Amino acid sequence: MHRHASGVLWVLLYVLIVLSPLVLMAVRPVPPGRSLLIEVSIALGFVGLVMMAVQFVLIARYPRMSAPFGIDVLLRYHRNIAGVALLFVVLHPTLLIINNPALLAWLDPIGGTWASRTGAWAMYAFILLALISVFRKQLRVSYELWRFSHTFFGIAAVLFGHIHVHLAGRYTDVFWKEAVLIAISLVMVGSFGYIRLIRPAIVRRKPFEVAEVRPERGNVWSFSLKPKGHEGMRFMPGQYCYLKLNTPYSFDEHPFSIASSSERRDRLEFAIKELGDFTSRIGQVPPGTTAYVDGPHGSFSPDLTPAPGYVFIAGGIGIGPFMSLLRSLADRADPRPVTLFYGEKSWDITAFREELEELGKRMNLEVVYVLENPHEGWTGETGFITEELLRKHLPEERFERHVFICGPNPMIDALEHALARVGFEDRQVSAERFNLV
Ligand SMILES: Cc1cc2nc3c(=O)[nH]c(=O)nc-3n(C[C@H](O)[C@H](O)[C@H](O)COP(=O)(O)OP(=O)(O)OC[C@H]3O[C@@H](n4cnc5c(N)ncnc54)[C@H](O)[C@@H]3O)c2cc1C
Repeated sequence: MHRHASGVLWVLLYVLIVLSPLVLMAVRPVPPGRSLLIEVSIALGFVGLVMMAVQFVLIARYPRMSAPFGIDVLLRYHRNIAGVALLFVVLHPTLLIINNPALLAWLDPIGGTWASRTGAWAMYAFILLALISVFRKQLRVSYELWRFSHTFFGIAAVLFGHIHVHLAGRYTDVFWKEAVLIAISLVMVGSFGYIRLIRPAIVRRKPFEVAEVRPERGNVWSFSLKPKGHEGMRFMPGQYCYLKLNTPYSFDEHPFSIASSSERRDRLEFAIKELGDFTSRIGQVPPGTTAYVDGPHGSFSPDLTPAPGYVFIAGGIGIGPFMSLLRSLADRADPRPVTLFYGEKSWDITAFREELEELGKRMNLEVVYVLENPHEGWTGETGFITEELLRKHLPEERFERHVFICGPNPMIDALEHALARVGFEDRQVSAERFNLV
């Protein structure tokens, strides 16, 4: 209930901040009125600018703010609402030009006045940021370059937008009104400083050391850390952390779901699949290397969604968070039934299958393996995890269970639809996506 109430308060605060420019426009002194189209255009530009600035706050990983929602939900909101902010920002000059086509010249990034130029720069920076994000894969932009450009264009868009508002001067000729806008820009700068300097400093106080790097089936590594001079991290099974090696200030940080049991604080383990430059080197990290862990984050946890039983659906390395869930439930001697659907390409690369067998002896667990390329003699399920397959293996009391899915995005999309057709409601299904961008 407390979590719910604080979530509502944060949402109210967000709406208040985003709509604050409308208050600035409505409270006296206001400049003499102009046509409705112009006033709507200015309102859209203002609100779009503030929404852009607040985007930095949403992803700053402030513990109090992310607690009620989970960082994954905030990241998803950040991504989805950016389209609305961009629409508002683009509508701002569009409406002005509809009102007076001569203003088309304002879109010239090197012509016009400083007021129009900075406005155009802000809008172009925002458009570039959006294009690179949406078409990152097609443009073959690496994650690291994407992240740098995202931050760079985001800061540029908000700063130029603010200078544009200041130079246009229509609603900021009164000190307190200008002060409100400056405060919103400072919140953006502050959030950037928080994530780049303050959070790393907090993380630095609780370092870890690489204890063991164990190979598993299918190019997966169990990357095991032990706390250095502290008691370890308290977390809920299913949560994830950002991992950095050697220095907490590194830009090279990667999110990984915790795979170890929440009942063991002396070890923190991740199941990491070789994929790109960082993960392909993980198997060669020598024991003793200092590691920094920003977390725990996320809300993909049965501890937050109590139910009489669970259905876990894993695709490939999506098994990572489920190892933490299963190891924790077994360590807690939790009697609740769990059905695990585990899809993999072939049997020889199915990670953790030996341990899953052991876990089955310690808890109420049924595992349904589904192989895309089964070997000769395989008698289990084959192909993909489909609606028919779910119907065949889900227990009678299926609707009492909560379903967790983790795997590749197309698999999650397909299964969310399949589960809806089987009869599950949205609130009974939680998904963890590894491809946030
Ligand atoms: C919440 C969450 C939990 C995850 N849990 C696991 C896990 O338990 N095991 C596992 O093997 N993988 C997990 N991943 C995926 C893992 O973060 C990426 O595979 C890894 O960062 C790839 O880095 P790379 O340099 O090796 O590959 P690259 O080739 O650089 O990247 C491959 C893809 O991974 C993503 N990625 C790369 N770097 C980052 C980054 N710094 N932050 C976010 N995404 C990035 C991008 O979509 C990129 O296209 C998780 C991702 C998320 C978002």
